[in-house]
Amino acid sequence: MLSVRKNDRVQVISGADAGKQGRVLQVFPKKNRVLVEHVHIIKRHTRPNPQKQIKGGIAEKEAPINISNVQLVCPTCNAPKRMGVRIAGDGRKQRVCKKCATVIDK
Ligand SMILES: [Zn+2]
Repeated sequence: MLSVRKNDRVQVISGADAGKQGRVLQVFPKKNRVLVEHVHIIKRHTRPNPQKQIKGGIAEKEAPINISNVQLVCPTCNAPKRMGVRIAGDGRKQRVCKKCATVIDK
């Protein structure tokens, strides 16, 4: 089970963007990578394409980073924390903050 899911709030814990927080836009399980809002911005040179209303120039865009470089932010601790997993009454897996026991997945 992946520790991070789409729309999670995560913090980058290592690498060039360490310390930044953002929302998970996309998860790439096979590549072990995640796309995080406002993290690992790369500049892409684009050609103008009037049909798609794309102006030429330099566009800034998020690039995926390794999933091991991010940690889920606990809303109660308001900090990145290690998560445990527990099985809910209906059999679903829920992530639980190991520090304060807040259940992340309602
Ligand atoms: Zn917590």
